[in-house]
Amino acid sequence: ARAQAMEVDASPTVSYEDIGGIDEQIREVREAVEEPLVNPEQFEAAGIEPPSGVLLHGPPGTGKTMLAKAVANRTDATFIKMAGSELVQKFIGEGAKLVRDLFSLAAEREPAVIFIDEIDAVASRRTDSKTSGDAEVQRTMMQLLSEMDGFEDRGNIRIIAATNRFDMLDSAILRPGRFDRLIEVPNPTVEGRHRILEIHTGDMNLADDVDFDRLADETEGFSGAEIESLTTESGMFAIRDDRSEVTMADFEGALEKMEAGDKSSVPNLR
Ligand code: ATP
Repeated sequence: ARAQAMEVDASPTVSYEDIGGIDEQIREVREAVEEPLVNPEQFEAAGIEPPSGVLLHGPPGTGKTMLAKAVANRTDATFIKMAGSELVQKFIGEGAKLVRDLFSLAAEREPAVIFIDEIDAVASRRTDSKTSGDAEVQRTMMQLLSEMDGFEDRGNIRIIAATNRFDMLDSAILRPGRFDRLIEVPNPTVEGRHRILEIHTGDMNLADDVDFDRLADETEGFSGAEIESLTTESGMFAIRDDRSEVTMADFEGALEKMEAGDKSSVPNLR
């Protein structure tokens, strides 16, 4: 069960160029996570501690996981992902044990990037700490904090966490030396959507009439993941029609379908 709770990728293939519309966030993550992994001596020479943990927050499907994978790729680090929900276990002490296992695996595989998705599952403000379930979640969080506090001796490990519910987080995890670098990853702007459309149609056979400017305008409020689904669905329209070329009409049809709320039929959509 332990092995299944973690996703380990020795050499992730996502690169920064695959991520559209969040250049500033990429820059910040590179400074906070990549630099200390690649040039630890620079930080030592300057006499400063690199940030222990970086917290990415923002709506679902905006590229937070991609960003963590791209850093691991760039630094030749092992990518180790754990979902916060996996740390919420039935039996006492099990969540804390998983946290210990997570950090000892990272130490074995260093350099490593630990990515904890849905950190809010273990680090929300206490709502009703009288229930034993909450006490157990609390213990898991304490274990996580203590692993982070004892970090310097552990070698080349950086930790990135992500949440869609920043407002729920317990301020204990945001203290200096913990997740003290906050990076918001919002839904893409119109330019961002344009770039993400280009990225996800890179391998598609597009007709000349496909107009990214217009599609970027028409996808206001879409996340990166939703734009990816739109491109896939457009391709499905062409295939159903027995064509290999994807036209603007296919995109418009897919868009209409998604806006009609039929998002459940679209693959990859969260
Ligand atoms: P969640 O909060 O739901 O875990 P996330 O922010 O971690 O979401 P990702 O897993 O990084 O989102 O994105 C899901 C998929 O959506 C990616 O694999 C990618 O194909 C697409 N995607 C999301 N954001 C972007 C982006 N900024 N540029 C290109 N593709 C994107």
